Amino acid sequence: MFENKIVRKILLKYKPLYAISHSLALMGWDNETYMPKGASSERGIATAELSILRQKLFLAKSFSGLVEKAKKLRDSNQLNEYESGVIRVLDRDLKFYQKVPKKVISDLEKTRVEAQVAWESAKSKNDFKKFKPYLSKLIEINKKIAEHYGYEKHPYDALIDLHEEGMTTEEFNNIFEQVRTQLSIILDGVLKRKTFPQYHEIEAEKYDKDNMHKLSLEILKNFSFSPEFCRLDVSAHPFTQSIGINDIRITTRYSGINFKEALSSLIHEYGHGLYDMQCNPKFAFTPLVSGPSYGTHESQSRFWENHILKSREFSESYYQLIKHYLPFMEKYSADELYNYLNVVRPSLIRTEADEITYHFHILLRFEIEKALIEGSLDVIEAPDEWQNKMEKYLGIRPTTDSEGILQDVHWSHGSFGYFPTYTIGSILAAQIAARIEKDIGKISELITAGEFTKIREWLRENMHKYGSMYSPSELIIKTTGEQLNPEHFLKYLKHKYLRQL
Ligand code: MG
Repeated sequence: MFENKIVRKILLKYKPLYAISHSLALMGWDNETYMPKGASSERGIATAELSILRQKLFLAKSFSGLVEKAKKLRDSNQLNEYESGVIRVLDRDLKFYQKVPKKVISDLEKTRVEAQVAWESAKSKNDFKKFKPYLSKLIEINKKIAEHYGYEKHPYDALIDLHEEGMTTEEFNNIFEQVRTQLSIILDGVLKRKTFPQYHEIEAEKYDKDNMHKLSLEILKNFSFSPEFCRLDVSAHPFTQSIGINDIRITTRYSGINFKEALSSLIHEYGHGLYDMQCNPKFAFTPLVSGPSYGTHESQSRFWENHILKSREFSESYYQLIKHYLPFMEKYSADELYNYLNVVRPSLIRTEADEITYHFHILLRFEIEKALIEGSLDVIEAPDEWQNKMEKYLGIRPTTDSEGILQDVHWSHGSFGYFPTYTIGSILAAQIAARIEKDIGKISELITAGEFTKIREWLRENMHKYGSMYSPSELIIKTTGEQLNPEHFLKYLKHKYLRQL
C-alpha cells in the first residue's frame, strides 16, 4: 500500500505527530466529559504546548522537505493512490502553516479562549455588546488568514476551503439558489396540508434519564456499536471524538424532557463515529484516518439521523423497544412516534430545527459570514441583519440576541466557513441514500428487515474505507457516481413531506 521509499520515510516521521494528535483528541474529549472544571487552565496550557510542538515537528525541514520531494513524485505520476492521498493531506496542512504567519495563528488561539468566555456570558445575559469586540477581532483575524492563505475570487473562499476542500463562495451561492425556493415551497406545503404536525404532545413528556441511557445503549448494540471499541458518554453539546480507528467516543445529552433531542443526537453522532470506525485499518497512524472534510463527514451523521431514525420504518421497528424503556409511550402509537420525530415548524434555534427549516438557518449564517468577511456588513449591524433575515426566511423574528446571533458557539471559536458544510451534509446524505437504493434496495425495506449490516457494509465499501485518500469532490463521485447534486435532497423532501412520487 505504501511502497515508495520517501512516503515510507514520511509516514515513519509522521508517527510522533499522530501520537500528539491522538493525545490532543483524548484531552479534548476529556475536557468536554469528565475533567473537573478547575483543571481548565492547566489543560489549556498543556493543549497549547502540544499544539505548538506538533506544528514545530510539522514545519521541521526534515519533515516538510520530504513532503516537498514526494509532491514532485506525485506530480510526475510516480505515487500510487494511497501515497498520493497521504501527500495531498499533508500538503494542505503544510500550506496552512507555511502561508499563515505564526503570529496570526497564536492570535486566533488566544482570542478564541477569551471569546468563548465572553460569548457564554453575553448569551446568558442577552447582551451582544459584551461579545461584539471579540467577534470583531475574530473577523479581522479571519480576514488576515484569508489574505495569507490565498483565494481566487472571494476572501471567504479561503475560509470555506479550510473546512471543505475545493468549495467556493460561488458554488455555495449556486447551491442555495437551487434549494432556497424549493425549500420554501415544501415548507409552505407541509404547513398548509398538515402532512406533519407543527407540534406534538410527546414534546412535553418527561423521561427517566437512566432508562433513556439504557435505550440508547440498546439501539447502539443493534447498530453494532461495540463497547470493545466505542464509548457513549454525556456532554453539554453532543459530539464525536475519534481517538483512533479502534477508539471511537460519542456523546449525547439527556435533558429529561422531549426525548427526541437525545435520540437524534445519539444517532447523529453514531453516524460520525461509524465513518471513522470503518476506515481502512491499515490507515492507522497515517494522515488518512477519517473523512476528507466537514461536509462529507456530516453526510454520514445526517444519513443515519434523517434517512434512518426519522423514517417511518424505524418508528415501526423500534416502537416496542422505545415503549419498554419509556413507558409513557403506551399512550401513543408507532404512527404518532413517527409524526413526533418529524414535527415541522419554523423555530428560532438551529439545533432544534427540522430537516426543511434547518437550511434557512444555515443560509442566514452563510450570508452574514460572507458579508462580514468581505466587509459589506459591520459587526454592529449583524444582530439586526440576523433578525431581518430570520423574518424573511422563516416568518419569525427573535426578540432577543440570545435567541438570535448569540445562539451558536461556532463564531466564538473563530470558525467561519464551517456552517455551510452542514447543508452539504444533508444534500450528500440524500444523494448517498439514492445510490444505496439503486445498489442494494429500498432503505425502508432494509430497515424493516433489520438489515443494518448491509447498509453499513455498503457505506464501508463505497465511502468509509477510503478515509481521506481523495478530495471531497473526488470522493463524492466515487461514492455516488456523480458530483454533489441537490436534486436528490429536494426529491427526498418532496416525497416525504408533500407525498410527491
Ligand atoms: Mg455533526
